Amino acid sequence: MVDTVKVGHEWFWERLDQYLAKSQLKHSKQRNFIIEEFLQMKTHVSAEELYSQLKTMDHNPGLATVYRTLNLLKDAALVDQKQFSDGKSVFEVMEPGSHHDHLICLTCHKVIEFENEEIERLQEQVAKKLGFKLTKHSLELFGHCSDCVKTL
Ligand SMILES: [Zn+2]
Ligand SMILES: [Zn+2]
Repeated sequence: MVDTVKVGHEWFWERLDQYLAKSQLKHSKQRNFIIEEFLQMKTHVSAEELYSQLKTMDHNPGLATVYRTLNLLKDAALVDQKQFSDGKSVFEVMEPGSHHDHLICLTCHKVIEFENEEIERLQEQVAKKLGFKLTKHSLELFGHCSDCVKTL
């Protein structure tokens, strides 16, 4: 375990521990540092953004290591990888028991998160009707945000 676990992310490190043990992987100091930094950043972070952030610090891992770390978190089902409007992949923490969907502005690339019980329910209904067992879903709505729509 790292010695500077930030409050609120204990579950994250616990599940990472379990995953590493199960996969017979060891903790690495460098990886932990990358993850810590990732957890401090805003949500929907790309590997490149995380890499740039790390470059401003003492540690300076290669971009490939940053990618590998994020992929490991994805394999551990701790983060979700999303492809939004500008083609770049972004990562966000998958908090257990919490879920949201996204509105994506095609002009300024802003991403707005939303939750809607009714949409959730309807999706489950659709799946049930078709005998489909849902494991997860991802809903992305594309368009122009309230700021950008004025300049169209
Ligand atoms: Zn916009
Ligand atoms: Zn999100």
